[in-house]
Amino acid sequence: MRARRTQMTTSLSAADVGDYAAVLCDLDGCLIAEARALPGAEAFAQAAGDRLSIVSNNSADTGATLSRKLGAIGLELAEERIFLAGELAVRTVAAERPGARVLVFAEPPLRHLATDLGLRQADDLAEVVVLGRDTRFTLASLERALRLLDRGAELVLTNPDLFHPNADGRPVPETGSLFAAFRACLPDLPARVFGKPEPFLIEAALRRTGVAEADAVFVGDNADTDGAAAARAGLDFIHLVANGHPTPASDHPDPPASPTEPTPIEVTSC
Ligand SMILES: [Mg+2]
Repeated sequence: MRARRTQMTTSLSAADVGDYAAVLCDLDGCLIAEARALPGAEAFAQAAGDRLSIVSNNSADTGATLSRKLGAIGLELAEERIFLAGELAVRTVAAERPGARVLVFAEPPLRHLATDLGLRQADDLAEVVVLGRDTRFTLASLERALRLLDRGAELVLTNPDLFHPNADGRPVPETGSLFAAFRACLPDLPARVFGKPEPFLIEAALRRTGVAEADAVFVGDNADTDGAAAARAGLDFIHLVANGHPTPASDHPDPPASPTEPTPIEVTSC
């Protein structure tokens, strides 16, 4: 599936987004790499102004914590304009299952958010397992989660990305790498996915900004996730490519099915 209109570019340009009422932009590889702003990012953010929203598969931060981090490197974005896969997943679970028992594999900001929203952290009695990018995830974590899933817990996958690039372009393992470990044990395990390529983050951003799909554009560096999400949400897509070459497809979330690889992720709507 393709976006309504796709344009390729090698650098962020305010002129490319001048006609749109809302500019939705991916974060890693577009505006930042690890903790550093990429060339042109600050000028692009200033030019887009209040039209700019961040739409990212980040599953470590909340909008509040990420807003502070971005501000420290010169990217001023209010938390209300930051839409993150991990936060959307936790907020949706809290809204649909008030007070539910959960096991959240993620960094402290997401775990604290879950508690603040009334979800009860219950390692061995959880009804929902939320999988984010958890740098302390171990084989014991996996075994605990598999036990819960075997008892009927739902698996919520914040994002299916296998990795994101660091400042040197090298892969940093992402949530999808952890999910691949789940699939190594349970090859047909279904998961409910919130991040791109699903359109839910884009839809949330459009709802909050009050802008129609036709008046918004999505800027991203990955055709398989950003481009697919833009297409599913009905937005034009600007594909930012590095040095004239698209981001390698190997970080996309649908690895080819084979006896030794995970089968494609079964997605249920959220
Ligand atoms: Mg990216």
